[in-house]
Amino acid sequence: MKITAARVIVTCPGRNFVTLKIETDQGVYGIGDATLNGRELSVVAYLEEHVIPVLIGKDPRRIEDIWLYLYRGAYWRRGPVTMRAIAAVDVALWDIKGKVAGMSITDLLGGASRDSVLVYGHANGADLESTVDAVGKYIDMGYTAIRAQSGVPGVNLAYGISRGTLHYEPADAALPTETVWNTSRYLDFCPKLFDALRGVYGFTHELLHDGHHRLTPNEAAQLGKNLEPYRLFWLEDITPAENQEAFRHIRQHTTTPLAVGEIFNTIWDAKDLIQNQLIDYIR
Ligand SMILES: [Mg+2]
Repeated sequence: MKITAARVIVTCPGRNFVTLKIETDQGVYGIGDATLNGRELSVVAYLEEHVIPVLIGKDPRRIEDIWLYLYRGAYWRRGPVTMRAIAAVDVALWDIKGKVAGMSITDLLGGASRDSVLVYGHANGADLESTVDAVGKYIDMGYTAIRAQSGVPGVNLAYGISRGTLHYEPADAALPTETVWNTSRYLDFCPKLFDALRGVYGFTHELLHDGHHRLTPNEAAQLGKNLEPYRLFWLEDITPAENQEAFRHIRQHTTTPLAVGEIFNTIWDAKDLIQNQLIDYIR
């Protein structure tokens, strides 16, 4: 079995959703997602210039070998663009393997172990009252877990407050959006938000919050401690994660569960966090 062609498909109005399609000499093809939020066309170039030319002629069944070839073979390893491109190849090859085997990837990897998974919705509000209302709307829709992000009094354009009709904030495609920030107001306001949410809705639902990498480790420790009475499901991205060791300080001061990882590129970015049990959830 050989890879005969591969092409990159860019689609979706208003955004660049990137799909890699790998074709074989036996008519079976696989697809993998190559979308890197805000930097989509960088991955397109990486795939077209550096990956697709070396895929042609390879045996698509050798998934691990091809992954190592692309990861170790390039002088420059890691980084979001490279890893997004390699991941798209990996998923497309698993898609081919599953189709050839006549099995879902879940079955190939051992079969399902859960009948359902917990998901959460993004509730955003310009102020405390509208955020409380937004959480209520998700509860009415049947969500059992909700992430709550609110505008902070005196802080314009705080992270997580939707500026359009989307329920998430796409990463900036050009230069970063400039916002005003005030840590002390945020630290003061955030526990009040969750106090109000628990006061209105009780403790039946899981509540989550994203700090978007804004706090120092010590400020994050303070916030985690002050949020403990409201039993968050997790506190996400509360400090920049480049320095994994920084999470030790937060961990030593709060029992609020910690989540991080959406900007990590490889398992190595989380090695110390996992090995030392410094977080509760890898995203
Ligand atoms: Mg986040």
